[in-house]
Amino acid sequence: MKNQEIVYVDMDGVLVDFESGVSRIPSAVRAQYLGNEDEIPGMFALMDPIPGALDAFRLVSENYETHILSTAPWNNPSAWTDKVSWVRRYIGETEETPAYKRLTISHNKNLLRGSYLIDDRKKNGAELFAGEHIHFGTELYPDWDSVLRRLGIG
Ligand SMILES: [Mg+2]
Repeated sequence: MKNQEIVYVDMDGVLVDFESGVSRIPSAVRAQYLGNEDEIPGMFALMDPIPGALDAFRLVSENYETHILSTAPWNNPSAWTDKVSWVRRYIGETEETPAYKRLTISHNKNLLRGSYLIDDRKKNGAELFAGEHIHFGTELYPDWDSVLRRLGIG
């Protein structure tokens, strides 16, 4: 039976390979946004999933009440729409798919209630999250396998 506990999953650096999007931007545009690459219009739709992340997300969704919790740059309005496009493209568009209407974009992740937040950074409220912050990409949780083990489904 599905665990009723809530798990939040970040996008960039957890489900999404941010650098793969940057690499698809023409160098002249990259130069124009040097140091502010996250403000390049359209870029967030061009990113690849992190290997294994989509399967892991499905598995977590089968076992927990699972939501995506991401932040989009304030100075890049297209990133907000690119993120829902990405989720629809890679996780699914219809009601039967695990991320259907389960995408929250916030700069204040600490305001959301839940048991776990899988996030590669402490920013945007992750550090203040009231549940357990599973700090993705650290020595303790270097990859999805280690996260799945923590959640008891690895
Ligand atoms: Mg992130």
